[in-house]
Amino acid sequence: MYLLENMTWAKAQEAFSKCKTAIIPLGSTEQHGPHLPLGTDFFTAQYFSDAMVNVDYNAIITPVLPIGFADYHSDFPGTLSLTYDTLMHVVSEICEKLIGYGIDHILFFNTHGGNAAPLGRVAYALRQRGIVAATYMWFEMIGHIKDEWKLIGHGDASETAFVLAYRPETCDPNDAIRPTNKNLTDKLIMGDMNEIMFKGVMPVHFQLRVKDVSDIGAMLEPSLYPDGDHGQWMEGVDPKMAEDMTKVVMEYLAEFLPEFEKVHFDPVV
Ligand SMILES: [Zn+2]
Repeated sequence: MYLLENMTWAKAQEAFSKCKTAIIPLGSTEQHGPHLPLGTDFFTAQYFSDAMVNVDYNAIITPVLPIGFADYHSDFPGTLSLTYDTLMHVVSEICEKLIGYGIDHILFFNTHGGNAAPLGRVAYALRQRGIVAATYMWFEMIGHIKDEWKLIGHGDASETAFVLAYRPETCDPNDAIRPTNKNLTDKLIMGDMNEIMFKGVMPVHFQLRVKDVSDIGAMLEPSLYPDGDHGQWMEGVDPKMAEDMTKVVMEYLAEFLPEFEKVHFDPVV
């Protein structure tokens, strides 16, 4: 694949003549608890996008967008956020340029859950015009591949592994604290950021701030594992874990992208 930021305009022109698909990696600048830097999500996006260059497929990769929608983290200083509308405008305008260069399939490679809703709205608007756009989030897939890769919450071992691989000097896993979630009441139990469990089973969808459910910024997300296995928080974490997870995600992308390109939509008239 072709990393846009590494090419001259002439090389980019040639690459666009061969590509129908573009990948836009998106991150966030947001708090991740006591041991991880604010750049965790965009370091992760950056690490993945560096790896994409070695995937043998004709697709353009844009620069990583390092700031997304993370306002609900901003009680913990340093978190930056765009509003929904601004993020939608920024992403839409990037898409417009790509479409102008001949792209008609756009994959949002998103490393931050808070970006998902605005990205979905951009994808829906593009679909009306017959442009195929979709969001892929590595963390929704990886826990199903291997037990040790189970995601268990915000700031967990999987996220830590990427920081150890990409910017090890910014993180000391010894500073990690396994979080204790705050429930809203004795009976309204935190399932994940916005899903509150009532009577053990029924999620009620709130719109919360991180400080409503966590004092330290990191969070366990028990609803990810209804079987009650909340796993280890940080034990066994190392940069190799990020390498191994990246390899799996790259294999997935290499198989997914040709299928993605087979999708065609009629514009809405
Ligand atoms: Zn994160």
